[in-house]
Amino acid sequence: MARRILLLTTGGTIASRPTEEGLAPGLAGAELAGLLPRGITDAYDLTIQDILHLDSSNIQPEEWQTIARHVFDNRTEYDGIVITHGTDTMAYTAAALSYLIQRSPKPIVLTGAQKPIGFDATDSRTNLRDSFECACTRDMHGVAIVFNGRVILGTRACKTHTKSFDAFASINYPNIADVRDGRVVKGVNFEGLRDVSDPARLAAHYSGQGADELVFYDITASAEGRRLFADALREVARTIFIPLTVGGGISSLEDFDRVLKCGADKVSVNTG
Ligand code: ASP
Repeated sequence: MARRILLLTTGGTIASRPTEEGLAPGLAGAELAGLLPRGITDAYDLTIQDILHLDSSNIQPEEWQTIARHVFDNRTEYDGIVITHGTDTMAYTAAALSYLIQRSPKPIVLTGAQKPIGFDATDSRTNLRDSFECACTRDMHGVAIVFNGRVILGTRACKTHTKSFDAFASINYPNIADVRDGRVVKGVNFEGLRDVSDPARLAAHYSGQGADELVFYDITASAEGRRLFADALREVARTIFIPLTVGGGISSLEDFDRVLKCGADKVSVNTG
Protein backbone atom coordinates (compact mmCIF):
# COMPACT_ATOMS: atom_id res chain seq x y z
CA MET A 1 0.00 0.00 0.00
CA ALA A 2 1.39 3.45 -0.93
CA ARG A 3 2.51 5.50 2.03
CA ARG A 4 0.09 8.27 2.89
CA ILE A 5 1.57 11.76 3.06
CA LEU A 6 -0.19 15.03 3.74
CA LEU A 7 1.53 17.97 2.04
CA LEU A 8 0.70 21.32 3.63
CA THR A 9 1.94 24.33 1.66
CA THR A 10 2.61 27.76 3.13
CA GLY A 11 4.53 29.57 0.34
CA GLY A 12 8.23 30.43 0.38
CA THR A 13 10.77 30.35 -2.43
CA ILE A 14 10.02 26.71 -3.25
CA ALA A 15 6.55 27.77 -4.45
CA SER A 16 7.61 31.08 -5.95
CA ARG A 17 7.52 32.31 -9.50
CA PRO A 18 9.07 35.46 -10.98
CA THR A 19 6.85 38.58 -10.85
CA GLU A 20 7.53 42.25 -11.63
CA GLU A 21 8.44 42.73 -7.97
CA GLY A 22 10.76 39.72 -7.91
CA LEU A 23 10.01 36.20 -6.76
CA ALA A 24 6.67 35.74 -5.02
CA PRO A 25 4.99 32.62 -3.65
CA GLY A 26 2.33 31.82 -6.22
CA LEU A 27 2.31 28.09 -6.91
CA ALA A 28 -0.38 25.93 -5.39
CA GLY A 29 0.53 22.54 -3.91
CA ALA A 30 -0.91 20.71 -6.92
CA GLU A 31 1.38 22.72 -9.21
CA LEU A 32 4.36 21.95 -6.94
CA ALA A 33 3.59 18.25 -7.05
CA GLY A 34 3.02 18.48 -10.81
CA LEU A 35 6.64 19.62 -11.24
CA LEU A 36 7.99 16.56 -9.43
CA PRO A 37 9.07 13.52 -11.46
CA ARG A 38 6.36 10.86 -11.70
CA GLY A 39 8.63 8.38 -9.92
CA ILE A 40 8.39 10.52 -6.79
CA THR A 41 4.68 11.28 -6.80
CA ASP A 42 3.75 7.70 -7.74
CA ALA A 43 5.64 6.36 -4.72
CA TYR A 44 3.26 8.06 -2.26
CA ASP A 45 -0.41 8.54 -1.73
CA LEU A 46 -0.24 12.34 -1.61
CA THR A 47 -2.97 14.63 -0.26
CA ILE A 48 -2.37 18.37 -0.63
CA GLN A 49 -3.76 21.26 1.37
CA ASP A 50 -2.72 24.84 0.59
CA ILE A 51 -2.96 26.66 3.88
CA LEU A 52 -0.91 29.86 3.35
CA HIS A 53 0.77 31.67 0.44
CA LEU A 54 3.37 33.69 2.27
CA ASP A 55 6.97 34.72 2.16
CA SER A 56 8.05 33.27 5.48
CA SER A 57 9.23 36.65 6.75
CA ASN A 58 5.49 37.32 7.14
CA ILE A 59 4.85 34.18 9.18
CA GLN A 60 4.07 35.02 12.79
CA PRO A 61 2.68 33.21 15.88
CA GLU A 62 -0.83 33.42 14.40
CA GLU A 63 0.36 31.42 11.37
CA TRP A 64 2.19 28.94 13.62
CA GLN A 65 -1.16 28.22 15.19
CA THR A 66 -2.81 27.79 11.79
CA ILE A 67 -0.12 25.31 10.75
CA ALA A 68 -0.29 23.47 14.09
CA ARG A 69 -4.09 23.22 13.81
CA HIS A 70 -3.84 21.61 10.36
CA VAL A 71 -1.23 19.16 11.61
CA PHE A 72 -3.27 18.31 14.69
CA ASP A 73 -6.55 17.85 12.77
CA ASN A 74 -4.90 15.46 10.32
CA ARG A 75 -2.62 13.62 12.73
CA THR A 76 -4.29 10.22 12.51
CA GLU A 77 -4.94 10.04 8.77
CA TYR A 78 -1.42 9.94 7.38
CA ASP A 79 1.94 8.21 7.81
CA GLY A 80 3.56 11.61 7.98
CA ILE A 81 3.08 15.29 7.24
CA VAL A 82 5.32 17.49 5.06
CA ILE A 83 5.06 21.28 5.31
CA THR A 84 6.64 23.47 2.63
CA HIS A 85 7.82 26.77 4.05
CA GLY A 86 10.13 29.67 3.25
CA THR A 87 13.63 29.23 4.57
CA ASP A 88 13.98 32.59 6.32
CA THR A 89 11.83 31.70 9.32
CA MET A 90 11.53 27.94 8.88
CA ALA A 91 13.69 27.26 11.93
CA TYR A 92 11.39 29.41 14.10
CA THR A 93 8.28 27.64 12.82
CA ALA A 94 9.97 24.28 13.42
CA ALA A 95 10.78 25.25 17.00
CA ALA A 96 7.26 26.59 17.62
CA LEU A 97 5.65 23.43 16.20
CA SER A 98 7.95 21.28 18.35
CA TYR A 99 6.36 22.85 21.43
CA LEU A 100 2.82 23.20 20.08
CA ILE A 101 2.68 19.53 19.04
CA GLN A 102 4.65 17.50 21.52
CA ARG A 103 5.36 13.76 21.42
CA SER A 104 3.99 13.30 17.90
CA PRO A 105 4.44 9.60 17.11
CA LYS A 106 4.62 10.49 13.41
CA PRO A 107 7.09 12.65 11.50
CA ILE A 108 6.19 16.29 10.88
CA VAL A 109 8.72 17.50 8.33
CA LEU A 110 9.37 21.07 7.24
CA THR A 111 11.18 21.73 4.02
CA GLY A 112 11.69 24.42 1.42
CA ALA A 113 14.29 25.41 -1.11
CA GLN A 114 16.81 28.04 -2.07
CA LYS A 115 15.58 28.03 -5.68
CA PRO A 116 11.95 27.81 -6.87
CA ILE A 117 10.76 24.45 -8.12
CA GLY A 118 10.23 25.82 -11.63
CA PHE A 119 13.92 26.71 -12.04
CA ASP A 120 16.30 24.34 -13.83
CA ALA A 121 18.93 24.32 -11.10
CA THR A 122 16.72 23.86 -8.07
CA ASP A 123 17.06 22.06 -4.78
CA SER A 124 13.25 21.84 -4.47
CA ARG A 125 12.80 18.41 -5.99
CA THR A 126 15.51 16.76 -3.89
CA ASN A 127 14.30 18.39 -0.69
CA LEU A 128 10.71 17.35 -1.36
CA ARG A 129 11.67 13.79 -2.24
CA ASP A 130 13.83 13.52 0.89
CA SER A 131 11.04 14.99 3.01
CA PHE A 132 8.45 12.53 1.70
CA GLU A 133 10.85 9.68 2.46
CA CYS A 134 11.49 10.94 5.99
CA ALA A 135 7.80 11.54 6.58
CA CYS A 136 7.08 7.86 6.18
CA THR A 137 10.16 6.48 7.91
CA ARG A 138 8.92 4.38 10.82
CA ASP A 139 11.65 5.32 13.29
CA MET A 140 11.15 9.05 12.80
CA HIS A 141 8.76 11.07 14.91
CA GLY A 142 8.28 14.65 16.00
CA VAL A 143 9.19 17.82 14.15
CA ALA A 144 12.24 18.00 11.88
CA ILE A 145 13.64 20.11 9.07
CA VAL A 146 14.80 18.16 6.03
CA PHE A 147 17.12 20.17 3.83
CA ASN A 148 20.04 19.33 1.57
CA GLY A 149 20.27 15.76 2.86
CA ARG A 150 20.19 16.72 6.52
CA VAL A 151 17.45 15.75 8.94
CA ILE A 152 17.58 18.29 11.78
CA LEU A 153 15.61 18.22 15.02
CA GLY A 154 12.99 21.01 14.99
CA THR A 155 14.38 22.67 18.09
CA ARG A 156 17.98 22.66 16.84
CA ALA A 157 17.83 24.10 13.34
CA CYS A 158 19.36 27.39 12.34
CA LYS A 159 19.56 28.94 8.87
CA THR A 160 23.26 29.50 8.37
CA HIS A 161 23.50 30.29 4.63
CA THR A 162 21.38 32.63 2.55
CA LYS A 163 22.37 31.26 -0.86
CA SER A 164 24.01 27.85 -0.46
CA PHE A 165 21.78 24.81 -0.89
CA ASP A 166 23.27 23.66 2.43
CA ALA A 167 21.24 26.33 4.19
CA PHE A 168 20.60 24.79 7.62
CA ALA A 169 22.78 23.50 10.43
CA SER A 170 21.91 21.60 13.58
CA ILE A 171 23.18 23.56 16.56
CA ASN A 172 24.88 21.70 19.43
CA TYR A 173 23.26 18.47 18.36
CA PRO A 174 23.99 16.01 15.57
CA ASN A 175 21.67 15.68 12.58
CA ILE A 176 19.04 13.14 13.60
CA ALA A 177 19.54 11.33 10.29
CA ASP A 178 20.77 11.97 6.80
CA VAL A 179 19.19 11.31 3.44
CA ARG A 180 21.36 9.80 0.73
CA ASP A 181 19.96 8.87 -2.69
CA GLY A 182 16.47 9.02 -1.30
CA ARG A 183 17.25 6.73 1.65
CA VAL A 184 17.13 7.91 5.24
CA VAL A 185 20.31 6.54 6.77
CA LYS A 186 21.68 5.97 10.24
CA GLY A 187 22.11 2.89 12.36
CA VAL A 188 18.85 2.31 14.24
CA ASN A 189 18.44 0.04 17.25
CA PHE A 190 22.03 -1.08 16.73
CA GLU A 191 21.16 -2.68 13.42
CA GLY A 192 22.54 -1.76 10.06
CA LEU A 193 25.27 0.31 11.72
CA ARG A 194 27.83 1.72 9.38
CA ASP A 195 31.17 3.39 10.00
CA VAL A 196 30.87 7.12 9.63
CA SER A 197 34.29 8.19 10.83
CA ASP A 198 36.86 7.34 13.46
CA PRO A 199 36.05 8.44 17.04
CA ALA A 200 38.71 11.15 17.28
CA ARG A 201 37.66 12.79 14.02
CA LEU A 202 34.01 12.66 15.01
CA ALA A 203 34.84 14.07 18.45
CA ALA A 204 36.71 16.95 16.82
CA HIS A 205 33.73 17.54 14.53
CA TYR A 206 31.17 17.69 17.36
CA SER A 207 33.46 19.82 19.47
CA GLY A 208 33.97 22.18 16.52
CA GLN A 209 30.18 22.41 16.07
CA GLY A 210 29.92 23.72 19.64
CA ALA A 211 28.98 20.58 21.62
CA ASP A 212 29.12 21.30 25.38
CA GLU A 213 30.18 17.80 26.34
CA LEU A 214 31.00 14.51 24.68
CA VAL A 215 29.76 11.12 25.90
CA PHE A 216 31.82 8.18 24.63
CA TYR A 217 29.94 4.93 25.11
CA ASP A 218 30.80 1.44 24.04
CA ILE A 219 27.22 0.50 24.70
CA THR A 220 27.45 -3.29 24.36
CA ALA A 221 30.87 -3.63 26.02
CA SER A 222 29.62 -5.31 29.23
CA ALA A 223 27.18 -7.60 27.43
CA GLU A 224 29.88 -8.70 25.00
CA GLY A 225 32.64 -8.89 27.63
CA ARG A 226 34.76 -6.19 26.04
CA ARG A 227 37.03 -3.73 27.82
CA LEU A 228 37.00 -0.14 26.72
CA PHE A 229 39.10 0.79 23.69
CA ALA A 230 41.87 2.61 25.51
CA ASP A 231 43.75 3.74 22.38
CA ALA A 232 40.68 5.28 20.78
CA LEU A 233 39.75 6.93 24.06
CA ARG A 234 43.22 8.43 24.55
CA GLU A 235 43.05 9.83 21.02
CA VAL A 236 39.61 11.36 21.62
CA ALA A 237 40.73 12.89 24.95
CA ARG A 238 43.78 14.39 23.23
CA THR A 239 41.65 15.89 20.46
CA ILE A 240 38.97 17.77 22.40
CA PHE A 241 38.84 20.33 25.20
CA ILE A 242 35.26 19.83 26.34
CA PRO A 243 34.20 17.52 29.21
CA LEU A 244 34.44 13.86 28.22
CA THR A 245 32.22 11.24 29.85
CA VAL A 246 33.08 7.61 29.23
CA GLY A 247 31.01 4.48 29.77
CA GLY A 248 30.68 0.84 28.74
CA GLY A 249 32.56 -2.15 30.11
CA ILE A 250 33.26 -0.49 33.50
CA SER A 251 32.96 -3.13 36.21
CA SER A 252 35.78 -2.50 38.69
CA LEU A 253 37.69 0.31 40.36
CA GLU A 254 40.61 -0.55 38.09
CA ASP A 255 38.38 0.15 35.09
CA PHE A 256 37.52 3.57 36.54
CA ASP A 257 41.18 4.26 37.07
CA ARG A 258 42.16 3.13 33.59
CA VAL A 259 39.49 5.27 31.92
CA LEU A 260 40.41 8.37 33.94
CA LYS A 261 44.07 7.87 33.09
CA CYS A 262 43.15 7.72 29.41
CA GLY A 263 41.77 11.26 29.73
CA ALA A 264 38.10 10.90 30.72
CA ASP A 265 36.67 13.61 32.97
CA LYS A 266 33.72 11.55 34.16
CA VAL A 267 32.90 7.85 34.20
CA SER A 268 29.39 6.57 33.60
CA VAL A 269 28.15 3.25 34.98
CA ASN A 270 24.75 1.76 34.34
CA THR A 271 24.41 -2.00 34.75
CA GLY A 272 27.96 -2.36 36.12
N1 ASP B 1 12.14 34.87 1.64
C1 ASP B 1 11.84 33.49 1.36
C2 ASP B 1 10.97 32.96 2.49
O1 ASP B 1 11.46 32.79 3.58
C3 ASP B 1 13.10 32.73 1.27
C4 ASP B 1 12.96 31.24 1.07
O2 ASP B 1 11.92 30.64 0.97
O3 ASP B 1 14.02 30.65 0.98
O4 ASP B 1 9.82 32.71 2.26
